[in-house]
Parts: sequence; C-alpha cells; structure tokens
Amino acid sequence: ISENVVFKSLNAFNRKAGLSVGAIQTIENLYAKQKEISGILNSKRHTQSQIEARIQKALRHNDATAKQAALNEAKSLKAQIGQMEKQLVDIEDQLYDLASSVPNDTHPDVPIGPENLAVTLSTHGPHPLPADPARDHVAVGKALGLFDLEAGSQVTGSSWYYLTNEGAILEMALTNYALSVALNHGFSPVITPDVVRTDIARRCGFQPRDHTASQSYHISTVSPASHSSPLEHPTHVHPDLVLAGTAEIPLAGLFANKIIPNSTLPQNIVGYGRAFRAEAGARGADTRGLYRVHQFTKVELFVVSKEEESEALMEEMRKIQVEIFEGLGLSFRVLDMPTEELGASAYRKYDMEAWMPGRGGWGEISSTSNCTDYQSRRLHIRYRKSDADLVPSSSGSSQLAFAHTLNGTAAAVPRLIVALLENGVRFNETGSVVGLDLPSVLERFWLGKR
Ligand code: AMP
Repeated sequence: ISENVVFKSLNAFNRKAGLSVGAIQTIENLYAKQKEISGILNSKRHTQSQIEARIQKALRHNDATAKQAALNEAKSLKAQIGQMEKQLVDIEDQLYDLASSVPNDTHPDVPIGPENLAVTLSTHGPHPLPADPARDHVAVGKALGLFDLEAGSQVTGSSWYYLTNEGAILEMALTNYALSVALNHGFSPVITPDVVRTDIARRCGFQPRDHTASQSYHISTVSPASHSSPLEHPTHVHPDLVLAGTAEIPLAGLFANKIIPNSTLPQNIVGYGRAFRAEAGARGADTRGLYRVHQFTKVELFVVSKEEESEALMEEMRKIQVEIFEGLGLSFRVLDMPTEELGASAYRKYDMEAWMPGRGGWGEISSTSNCTDYQSRRLHIRYRKSDADLVPSSSGSSQLAFAHTLNGTAAAVPRLIVALLENGVRFNETGSVVGLDLPSVLERFWLGKR
C-alpha cells in the first residue's frame, strides 16, 4: 500500500458518497497497525535468520542439544510468523478497500454542496428556442425514421435502440466531426477496447465491484473446457471484467505502469468507444427515447500532463469542446459543478448542457474532469521531472512524479442527436414534421446523399 494513496488528501467530506470522519480514523488506525505488524514481522524474520545460523553452527560442532533447542525455537517462530502474515494480509485488504474509497481533493473554487449550486461559467450559441413539446425528439425521430426504440426494446430491453437510415449516418457524421476537431488540435486517435478489467475501472475511480450500486455490466466469461453447452450452468466464471462505462477507463489504462518522458507531455489522445451504463435506478422522463440509454458511442478527449499544467489544460479542453458544440449550432452553457456532483476521481468538473426545447430543459451533453493525480497514483502513471534524469544522476535516482490525467466528452452521440432533433426539426403549416435542419459542419462527414 502506498502511503501516498492513503494520506494524499482527506478532503473527502463534501462528496455525495462522502467519507465519514470515522472511516478516516479507521484508515489511520489500520495504517498504524500495518506498520506495527510489518515492523514486528521484520524483526522476527531477522531472528529467524539468526536461528538458522545457530543451527548451521550446531551442525558444524556436532552439538545435538544446541541444534534441538534452535530447531524448537525455529518451529515456534515459524508458526508465529505465519499467523502474523495472515493478520497483515487481512489488515492490508481492509486498508486497501477503505483507502481506495477516499475521493480526490477538490479545487478551492469548486462550489461546496448539491447540483443547484453549479456556477455558470459561460453561455454559447443562439438564443434558446421556446419550450415546445411538439419538438420532442422521440416524436421527431419516429416521424423521420431515425431510430427504432420498439425493436431495441424487443431485442435487448428498454433503453436499448437501433439507429436507422439517416439516424445511423448522423452518428457516424457526429463522431467523425468531433474526431476531426480533436485531431486538428493535435490529439492522436485511439480506438479502445470496450471491455476492461474490474480492477482497472476501480483504479480509475469507478467501483464496479459494489454490485448493489453498480452502474456496470459485469461479464462472465465461461471456460469452454468446463462445460460443453452454453445452456449449462457455468462452472468456471471469471467475474473480473466489465463493459466500460466510458472510454476514459481504457484510455487511462493505456498509460498504466508507464514512465513518460518529460518532453512528450502533455500527451493528448482522443478515444472512440462504446459506453455501457446499467443506469440502475434511472427512471422518469430521462429514460424516454435516446436521452438515457444503456449503450452509446462516445468520442472522448484524454490528456496526461505534468502536475503544474493540468489546470491550464482543462481550459484548453473546454475551448475544444466549445468549438465542437458551437459548430453544431447548439445553445449551451458551461457549468462549474459543485462537490456533490464530482465523481471520486475529479478534482474539478465542468459540465456542458444544451438547450433541448422538446424536453423543455437543459440536458447534459458533456463532462470534463481534471482528475489530477488520483488515477495515476492508482495506475502508476509517472513522468520524469526532467529528461536529464534519463542519464542516471550520481545518486542513481531519477526524479519521478505522478502525472495528472484529464478526460472530457467530445461527443456523446445520443445526447447530441436529442439536441439536434429538438432544435433542428422543420414543421409544415399544419404542424407535421417534414424534415430536419442539420449543421453545415456535418456535410463533410455525411455518407451518401442528403
Ligand atoms: P459521464 O462520463 O457520466 O460524465 O458522461 C459523459 C457524457 O455522456 C454526459 O455528459 C452525457 O452527455 C452522456 N451520457 C451519460 N450517460 C448517458 C446515458 N445513459 N445515455 C446517453 N448519454 C449519456
């Protein structure tokens, strides 16, 4: 257990899943206990090697009495060590679980409290249209044949969907548009695996092990050797994989256990992946249509930086996102989210919300978090403070630091479709849906004729 992870920051009380003062006390106690037992174990192991030397000496001198005495001591010591090792593993497990649940520190400017304390940092795009239920994206999409919710529900379940006809083309155009803006800003493209180890998700600040509150789909892979028919009860299950809730997880994992040369930072990558969300507990208006679905395509910006650069880079990411959403002609606002809305990993989070007149409200289309060193401490992502350290110094030690990581949505496709449909729908004089005005930036990425 790294001391850094345990005691990095205990500013953990303002989060929704806030930690109790008692838990912090328990962490301190467990840590003290772990140190104490490790110390005792070390000295017992030292004694063990001394006894071993005594046995050797007794053997050399043919001293059977001394040999037997030393053997007896060795036996009893071995039992004590075995018992203490078990105790240590138990304490380390508890410490690890509790310490991993400590969230990141928070930026001093972050409002403390619930969602309604979010501060609007800027607004963009045209003046919002009046709320109008006729613009509801579900009705518009149905009229234009852009998606099929009934088939999704029949084939998979509710909140699963098919994008059809221009709906499918719209997804591809949106992802390629968002990717192209990111590439223009020097981001390198990455296509991620959509299945990740539970452990990697946990190290990124997601807690997929917690099945009761889990927002993750767990995968059970069944070894073919263990049973012949897929209908048989699985006997060999590896419950250590989850469908990624966001490409942020495999993107962060890409840097795990790496030492990054100073001169290559910041590393800017843009991922393309599917996000899978169980959305346990979600109900009501949010689950209608495409707004809150179980699977969606997402283009994700991901940055690994030096510690002193992450705040400025968060503003750079915000500029890229503003460019993407302004290009789409959306009315949107940027919010500095309060503590209770921050995930475990986030030091600061900006959400962007677009006006959705059919829903009659603002809907989140993007979220950007500066995770500072929370993820890199857990994933061991480090960088050289100076590349001069590549040449070992006289002391032989390199100056390594934990990198900062940032992630932000460049395009969460279904939410963008909702916003585009509700703002761009065209009606005839009798109020029937007759078409959809789409932003000209998508033309370049449109497959086929429009
Ligand atoms: P998050 O990683 O939870 O911050 O989500 C990133 C973005 O994905 C959000 O800003 C939303 O635009 C979008 N999003 C999140 N959950 C869903 C969902 N269940 N269905 C559709 N879009 C979603």
